[in-house]
Amino acid sequence: MAERSHFDYIIIGNGLAGLQLALKMASDGFFSDKHIALIDPSEKNTNDKTWSFWEKEPSQWADLPYKTWQKAKINTSKTTIDLVLAPYTYKSIRAIDFYNYAKTKLEAQQHFNFIIDKVTTITDTPKTIVKTQQHRYTATHIFDSRVPDDFYNLNNSITINQHFKGIVIKSKTDIFDVDTLTMMDYRLKDGAQTTFTYVLPFSKTEALIEFTYFTEKVVDEAVYDMFIENYIKTYLNINNYEVLESEKGNIPMTTFPFDSYNTKNITKIGTGGGWVKPSTGYSFKHTETKVAKIIENIKASKTPSKHLFKRKYKFYDKVFLKVLKDENHKGEWLFQQFYGKNNIDTMFRFLDEESSFAEELKIMWSLFSWSFIKAFFKTL
Ligand SMILES: Cc1cc2nc3c(=O)[nH]c(=O)nc-3n(C[C@H](O)[C@H](O)[C@H](O)COP(=O)(O)OP(=O)(O)OC[C@H]3O[C@@H](n4cnc5c(N)ncnc54)[C@H](O)[C@@H]3O)c2cc1C
Repeated sequence: MAERSHFDYIIIGNGLAGLQLALKMASDGFFSDKHIALIDPSEKNTNDKTWSFWEKEPSQWADLPYKTWQKAKINTSKTTIDLVLAPYTYKSIRAIDFYNYAKTKLEAQQHFNFIIDKVTTITDTPKTIVKTQQHRYTATHIFDSRVPDDFYNLNNSITINQHFKGIVIKSKTDIFDVDTLTMMDYRLKDGAQTTFTYVLPFSKTEALIEFTYFTEKVVDEAVYDMFIENYIKTYLNINNYEVLESEKGNIPMTTFPFDSYNTKNITKIGTGGGWVKPSTGYSFKHTETKVAKIIENIKASKTPSKHLFKRKYKFYDKVFLKVLKDENHKGEWLFQQFYGKNNIDTMFRFLDEESSFAEELKIMWSLFSWSFIKAFFKTL
């Protein structure tokens, strides 16, 4: 238990969003006299996922990547698209390395308190209260990374599940091209649905191989296993391998209005705050941008969640999700157009929500089709 029961800031959840927010506070003198608690039932001492993202150098995460790549490819049933990523680099960070890095930095500062406990309820007014299984705390502001129950119970929004299983394998012989990751391989699919394999080669003999669905319904674990095994045998020609690790996930790609749960005293963060990019499921770099905006708002005495989202990208994401929902078989075509007809700078700037209107027009032109026109007008 912490020695105090009131904090300036309570961060619920020591995951990606909670720890990135705390790290940003720890690096800013404005917060050096603030008491900050991080509450999570988990000690965060297992490698529960691998985060991948693209960025330009230099970066604050320079010491963390387990592997980086300068080249990527997309395989469709018709063609291979080779991508030279410069000026970007694609990077993977093992979650355990990130947790250890963050804990070491935060534990070195006495005004950060780690509390191992599960939050049961929070109250906004008249007092900002956090009740856990064991205690009760008050705070000036709460950052909450729990996904609202309404997302599961009252969800009328467009939601596609990005669900997947991945295994890290070690082959007996040198097989992988360590310089090139496979962003999407559509040669093996589950029927007409949007499904693909993602391959991150860590060395000549080790790689993460993930079978991913962008669909409304999820599948049994045995289904992912069957596709992964098939891919390894048929497309990688590996018969002899050992499984070193596995990860499973379901990332919501959704138009659910998470930001409507923000108040003056409570800010939803991470997946629970809608920080996962609806059209891609990526959130590592978006988390960084949102955290920077929150800190800027706090320092300017504004509500922390003010202007966290750009409306035009919400619209683009919604159109994209509508196409995927109404015509799920179009996924392969859609990504082939997107990656095949635009240059890397335009694509990444668009996905990072930094594009100009001219770049957005280029992207829209590359996807121009009856499906998009329909989805566009239905979304309007
Ligand atoms: C397997 C997997 C792989 C992914 N890979 C990528 C990737 O490569 N690139 C990318 O950009 N994104 C990726 N994502 C998506 C996204 O980046 C992650 O889901 C990310 O972890 C979201 O951050 P978060 O802080 O919202 O959630 P989390 O990191 O899951 O953290 C939430 C924390 O809240 C805690 N918590 C929950 N309930 C309570 C409670 N009641 N009280 C206190 N604490 C609580 C949990 O214990 C957890 O520690 C991946 C997601 C998964 C699941």
